[in-house]
Amino acid sequence: MPIQIAAERESAHIMHALSIVVAAALTTAVLFPVRAFGQGQADLILVHGKIWTENPRQPEVEAIAIQGNRIVGVGDNDSVLKLAGPKTKVVDLKGHRVVPGFNDAHVHFYMGGDGITSVHLLGASSTGEFRKRIAEFARSRPKGEWILNGNWDHERWTPAQLPTHQLIDDVTDDNPIFVNRSDGHMCLANALAMKLAGVDRNTKDVPGGVIVRDANGNPTGIFKDAAKNLIERVLPHPSLDHILSALQAAQEYAAENGVTSVQDMGVFTAQGVNTMADVIRGYQVLEKRGELRVRISAHMPLADWKRLASAGIMADFGTEKLQLGALKSFADGSLGSTTAWFFEPYSDAPNTSGIPSPELLHPEEMYEEMRDADRAGLQLAVHAIGDRAIRTILDMFERLEREDGISERRLRIEHAQHLSPADIPRFAKLHVVASMQPYHAIDDGRWADKRIGPERVKTTYAFRSLLDAGAVLAFGSDWFVAPINPLVGIYAAVTRRTLDGKHPDGWVPQQKISVAEAVHAYTVGAAYASLEDGIKGSIEPGKLADLAVLSDDIFHIDPVEIQGVKVDITIFDGRVIFERK
Ligand SMILES: [Zn+2]
Repeated sequence: MPIQIAAERESAHIMHALSIVVAAALTTAVLFPVRAFGQGQADLILVHGKIWTENPRQPEVEAIAIQGNRIVGVGDNDSVLKLAGPKTKVVDLKGHRVVPGFNDAHVHFYMGGDGITSVHLLGASSTGEFRKRIAEFARSRPKGEWILNGNWDHERWTPAQLPTHQLIDDVTDDNPIFVNRSDGHMCLANALAMKLAGVDRNTKDVPGGVIVRDANGNPTGIFKDAAKNLIERVLPHPSLDHILSALQAAQEYAAENGVTSVQDMGVFTAQGVNTMADVIRGYQVLEKRGELRVRISAHMPLADWKRLASAGIMADFGTEKLQLGALKSFADGSLGSTTAWFFEPYSDAPNTSGIPSPELLHPEEMYEEMRDADRAGLQLAVHAIGDRAIRTILDMFERLEREDGISERRLRIEHAQHLSPADIPRFAKLHVVASMQPYHAIDDGRWADKRIGPERVKTTYAFRSLLDAGAVLAFGSDWFVAPINPLVGIYAAVTRRTLDGKHPDGWVPQQKISVAEAVHAYTVGAAYASLEDGIKGSIEPGKLADLAVLSDDIFHIDPVEIQGVKVDITIFDGRVIFERK
């Protein structure tokens, strides 16, 4: 197969000015357009690979040439090696599978990184171990610093008893502690944290929450759901250094997993950061220092649209490394907490069908806000999980197209988990990206039948039906809520084998998709969702040089084995940023 030349990509902006010249050159001089990307020879050439390009005109090639941060040539070994000069580094891939760098369309990047750098309690299998880990971590931290996260799980202890502040007080005198259970629904505070928050036996109970108390009415340190806010409201803003170390840990974890782009959906107040602003500042510092090792698309809350619009900022504002993503709003809650909003009641909680988000309690205002943001040139993404929440948002998107016309909005619905069959074709018709996280399917699949019954699960995580109806799927992980590993996500979409092992042939198997379709959703689909498919998502000349080299060929092994496949090499911006030892 001949080398494909840069000019064939019409969407590569850089080529537009050259298109007339290049058109004349296309049939004869193969090297001419390659030179258009730089000063001649390639910096890095990968040969003897099985390279999955995501370019339908040249789907598989053997070799790639990279110059600077761009792909300058793809094709067979001999053609690509012609781009080598004396200084070119040539890497023999020894037949390994290469895919475009993964783009995770839905993460909470700072929160995930903050979890990595904090105390790790999930592996603590007894109260003794729990106490020991907290004591060791507290000794390593400056006096007065809050210790958060943790992800403990008392169900792993015998007896499975909730921890109390007395268990850790004498080893945490100098640091306020507020560590959460792995489901995020409850936290343990130590005495110092409660003192700082002014919480004691006289503190009144909170609607929607529980302060666990001992026989004398004293708080034990456990705060559930809405009661967590009693402590959270006194959490200080983290320092810039704290944010930077969390982001650095997060990008290291991304690199190990072949993830070269992430779309950051923001921060919950529980982490002590009230807006994305602190985190975006952190990203800018890393970019300025030349230390950003993953491309960021940073989403902001819809409520911020006016401030962005008044500064003249439109969708896709930013650089190739740090870009403004969509404006995010919420239509409902989650299936796990029975707050996802359905037409019919929950099968296991017949007194409720979930609830719309506070924003959606005023649908006309929410619509007007989205419409005005759209008119200002900003992109919209709405979290919607239950069928009724999704229908309501699709109706709003339809109205937007009717009133303001069709344009390249790339409207997004985040999660899009439980669809009414009638709404499936509307994603394609209304040009709405379904931004979905396949890992949730094999996680929720353990108990979703019980929660919503046999009929509704048929169009739950309906990857197959959405693709068949012509929708664009953008895949992500929802990390920190789930692992970031895209290979596990691909495994989940392809096998639908639930985590409990109870569906070896797949849960709702008619909704399985192919490996190629899942990879597409993790690369091209995700780039499309953030308006960046012109610069990344596929391996072709002119695109950014972001790649993942895999340990095994995911297109030819048993799909069940995909969950164990590792990323051997991650190339980001033309440089090797991770190599498995
Ligand atoms: Zn999320």
